[in-house]
Amino acid sequence: MKVLISGAGVAGPALAWWLVRYGAEVTIVERAPEFRSGGYVVDFWGAGFDIAERMGLIPEIRRKGYMVREVRVVNREGKRVSGFPVEAFARIAHNRYTSIPRGDLAEIIFRSIEEKIETIFGDTIEKLDQDPNGVTVQLARGGERRFDLVIGCDGLHSNVRRLVFGPDSRFEAYLGFKVAAFAVAGYQPRDELVYLMYTEVGQQLNRFSMRDDRTMFLFTFADRDPAFPQSIDEQKALLRRRFGGSGWESRPILDALDRAPELYFDRVSQIRMPAEEWCAGGRVALAGDAASCVSLLAGEGSGLAIVAAYILAGELHRAGGDYQRAFARYRDLFRPFVEGKQRAALRFARSFAPPSKLSIVMRNAVFRMMSVGWIADLVAGRGFRDDIELPEYDKMTHPIASN
Ligand SMILES: Cc1cc2nc3c(=O)[nH]c(=O)nc-3n(C[C@H](O)[C@H](O)[C@H](O)COP(=O)(O)OP(=O)(O)OC[C@H]3O[C@@H](n4cnc5c(N)ncnc54)[C@H](O)[C@@H]3O)c2cc1C
Repeated sequence: MKVLISGAGVAGPALAWWLVRYGAEVTIVERAPEFRSGGYVVDFWGAGFDIAERMGLIPEIRRKGYMVREVRVVNREGKRVSGFPVEAFARIAHNRYTSIPRGDLAEIIFRSIEEKIETIFGDTIEKLDQDPNGVTVQLARGGERRFDLVIGCDGLHSNVRRLVFGPDSRFEAYLGFKVAAFAVAGYQPRDELVYLMYTEVGQQLNRFSMRDDRTMFLFTFADRDPAFPQSIDEQKALLRRRFGGSGWESRPILDALDRAPELYFDRVSQIRMPAEEWCAGGRVALAGDAASCVSLLAGEGSGLAIVAAYILAGELHRAGGDYQRAFARYRDLFRPFVEGKQRAALRFARSFAPPSKLSIVMRNAVFRMMSVGWIADLVAGRGFRDDIELPEYDKMTHPIASN
């Protein structure tokens, strides 16, 4: 079976890894001209961690990751006012927990499979035509190609979803926040393995010191308007307007932003597809953020992207290439699980950009109590539980055939 995957983020390479294991021939098309590592730091644990272990990738993920020691909330002057030891999370996750730049996680998966697949960088799908025997794909630069299946792993603003399932406005639920992240070298001060958080009403600034003298910054802010500027200069100007009068290190951070060559800037949204449309794309399906983005509020989107990839590939393997049966089982297994994660994520929304001074005070009080084991379990335990039993597809013997 020949499968085209759109997107070399987290879901795409993970899907390729498992499909190749089950005998499929995989091509990935990625819009970026080359693989981009680094980026904002994500927390990684749960069922996604378990699957990465089955892929033999955990030693490398731990090597590139960080064992953050402390989340520290600071005031305008930079004095600690609240926080908790991250050991509380690691304990709840039975030490199967790390924090790693999103692009590094994606790259570890990609490098482990790249020699067994075809990868086309700097291209995108322009048109898809399905017929009873396959899909004809028109690439913007690479011309026409033919595949048995096409899977969109191209993120929150998925191109494949737009081409096959409909416009973003039908599926994207804007959660009322914007997010921006960038990294620079040489920023001072540094606080090794401490995740710093400065919060004002409706907005927050985070700083995290990484290896090689690099520092990552994350802005989150409430904004009713889902629209945002597309050029990096206008995005920087917007952040300057929004955070210019803010306290703590906002001024040197905005100066560092001026020097940053790259900026990640986006809406915080979830993708919610109606049940009947989840696998109504014929020979086309979606995985990862493209299908079911939980947003940064869940703190688990990368792990969930890996789980989706594992189940989708495994069900294709189990169904011996009967893609309709496989897509339906993928939907039935994964959808209720990820929808639970989406609902849970919404409970954390207030802690990213609290709407009032009182909610900041209350959040800080909860954070202070998190060093007590049972309170940490009460506050975070539910979010760390992944109530999904991962099927053991390796025990099944069919190769994936075209159908
Ligand atoms: C600020 C922030 C913090 C986060 N924190 C966490 C966290 O702590 N823990 C966690 O697990 N998750 C976190 N997440 C979520 C996590 O990053 C995503 O859920 C995860 O990366 C989804 O993987 P994906 O492969 O589906 O999509 P992506 O990683 O977005 O990858 C999509 C890929 O598709 C490519 N692409 C896009 N359009 C096209 C096109 N037209 N043609 C070809 N390729 C295309 C992109 O270039 C990209 O390579 C966070 C997200 C944000 C924004």
